[in-house]
Amino acid sequence: MSAVQKTRAEVLDGRPVAEQIKQDVRAEVTRLWQDHGVRPSLAAVQVGDDPASAVYVRNKVKTSEDLGLASEHHALAASTTTEALIELIADLNRRDDVDGILVQLPLPKQIDEVAVIKAVDPAKDVDAFHPVNVGLLAMGRPQFVPCTPAGVIELLERNQITIAGVNACVVGRSQIVGRPVANLLLQRHATVTICHSRTADLSSITRQADILVAAIGQPALIRGLYIKPGATVIDVGINRVTDRELARELFGDVAETRIEAIDRRGYTLVGDVHPAEADLVAGRRTPVPGGVGLLTVAMLMRNTVQAARRRRGV
Ligand code: NAD
Repeated sequence: MSAVQKTRAEVLDGRPVAEQIKQDVRAEVTRLWQDHGVRPSLAAVQVGDDPASAVYVRNKVKTSEDLGLASEHHALAASTTTEALIELIADLNRRDDVDGILVQLPLPKQIDEVAVIKAVDPAKDVDAFHPVNVGLLAMGRPQFVPCTPAGVIELLERNQITIAGVNACVVGRSQIVGRPVANLLLQRHATVTICHSRTADLSSITRQADILVAAIGQPALIRGLYIKPGATVIDVGINRVTDRELARELFGDVAETRIEAIDRRGYTLVGDVHPAEADLVAGRRTPVPGGVGLLTVAMLMRNTVQAARRRRGV
């Protein structure tokens, strides 16, 4: 046995952070109702019957109801046209009782996604995808912060992880996760590097990072050698693993539970980070499931309450 006993990375659990945010939202919703007669409301729009989107939308609507917000779910046929969807959005924009509008992405191929995102009133754009909100965030003056990136920051800040002055690396440059996370870290004074599919020698860059955020969509791409010893690793990825042998390799001493999940429902989830290897190198890491994913819906609820406050002047 080596003289230096290796300790496992600490788990950055998303559950207590998400619960705390939801409790704060619930208290705020009660106060808005008691003091101002305002009940924040969210309209969720889903097009088509993609099973993953259906689960996400149902979860968002259910959480709204649990926290005392009003909510409505518009489920449209997969054959819906861009014009028909924009007409519905225009109606939701006009309605005074709707505070937040959420259009679940991705949309079916025939729909012009950019036109739809631009159709949402920026004041009701609780996902923060509208160019006005993207621009405000890039300027460092966000009106709404997109939900998953906001969740990444909450996890770091509520676990007292220093952002200012550290080297942060974000792998992934999507509009929904990578770019806004990089902007938020920059605004908190990290030195930020953004990597992507064309980055040469990825591991030599990720290995410099004190905070490494993986938002790639490739199962366990970030191996132990990509991680600086002691780094904080935030794993945004959500990928399905169906292969039992792969699960055994990825999950180390909890592999049996994961293999049981594959036997039971056909898959288990893994992030973009190799969990067993990261555990031997990182100082802390978020689990999948149970990490960043839990924060996304909580942040959506917070954005909806903020929209209600701002729109109704309270
Ligand atoms: P995306 O496909 O839009 O973007 C992926 C990014 O990864 C791209 O910028 C691409 O350049 C980069 N990339 C791809 N292959 C790479 C490689 N080999 N090396 C380096 N970079 C590479 O995906 P997204 O919407 O940003 O989502 C990323 C992951 O996060 C997915 O697994 C998705 O399911 C997950 N996600 C989770 C939540 C949540 O709530 N936790 C929310 C959104 C997305």
